[in-house]
Amino acid sequence: SITASMGVSIFPRDGKTAGVLIKNADIAMYHAKSQGKNNCQFYSLSLGMERSKKLLLENNLQNAADNNEFIVHYQPIVDVNTGKIISIEALVRWVHPKFGLISPMEFIPIAEETGHIIRIGEFVLRTACRQNSQWIKMGLSSVPVSVNLSPVQFHQPDLVEMITGILKETGLDSSFLQLEITEGAAMTDSNMVVSLLNRLHDNGIKLIIDDFGIGYSSLNYLKKFPVSMIKIDKFFIRNIASNENDAAVMCALFAMAQALGMKVIAEGVETREQLEVLRSLEFKTIDKFESFGVQGFYFSRPVPAEEFIGLLKDQKLKESV
Ligand code: C2E
Ligand code: CA
Ligand code: CA
Repeated sequence: SITASMGVSIFPRDGKTAGVLIKNADIAMYHAKSQGKNNCQFYSLSLGMERSKKLLLENNLQNAADNNEFIVHYQPIVDVNTGKIISIEALVRWVHPKFGLISPMEFIPIAEETGHIIRIGEFVLRTACRQNSQWIKMGLSSVPVSVNLSPVQFHQPDLVEMITGILKETGLDSSFLQLEITEGAAMTDSNMVVSLLNRLHDNGIKLIIDDFGIGYSSLNYLKKFPVSMIKIDKFFIRNIASNENDAAVMCALFAMAQALGMKVIAEGVETREQLEVLRSLEFKTIDKFESFGVQGFYFSRPVPAEEFIGLLKDQKLKESV
């Protein structure tokens, strides 16, 4: 069956010449495609601006790495009961000379499309490893740093060598590095991915499934991949204090993780109420006492390294009261 996506621009509002009108209709047509195809969209100024910003970012990404425009922020992951930091997530930011701080939500997808993610990913890994190694030497950290790995990086032929090389170069023991991977289209159980993840695991690096429970959930890979932890997506935490179903889903996920011998992190904890519900769930569902990790704005937003030192010195965030 054939479907059509249509973009419309109107004279003179969207352009005074045929060339401009057609260009803008084209932008509207691509928007129609991105909205699931088989529909019709009108051109608007904001659509045009969005498109030119994307093109601009796409072009600027090339120089951004050369000009050291990327920085890494750190967010603590703490024990649900004691509030002690159990790991540190490294999150990249782009300090754009014109737009200021750009969220990774905006530029990572573009970097993945264009392949720039390979270079950015390596930069984040090196920075995070060097930083944690330094904190360990200073006696500030005794926990792993968690770095996000894009599925695009799986296709980098020397990925494992790059990672082990950086560990050596920065003097960080592999037990102090964790990699977060998302369940996505690329997370097929292809032999290539399985053997890659096994090699990382054999090198002593722990693997976390990020954003667990949304998108391409397949329980199949949980038993095929050497995964030690699942990070339950913020989507399930958002209404946990008001929605009983969300709490029930969390219980089921805990039980599953425990049966598979995996640890759990709940991300996106923003309020005291959410934390309290999470604490109560643990006791209801898990007979064998086992704690889990929580991460979210309630404890701390991702912050620059200098600021993170303060958190490491504090050690106990929002200590259980
Ligand atoms: P993610 O891996 O799921 O990272 C967690 C995101 O949730 C971060 O957004 C963090 O700031 C945000 N967050 C933390 N606590 C809370 C909370 O309590 N409430 C809410 N609403 N949000 C919270 P951020 O830093 O904007 O990163 C967005 C995404 O960009 C990340 O999602 C990750 O997928 C990607 N990303 C970030 N850094 C890197 C990187 O170095 N490499 C790759 N490949 N992807 C990255
Ligand atoms: Ca993550
Ligand atoms: Ca996540």
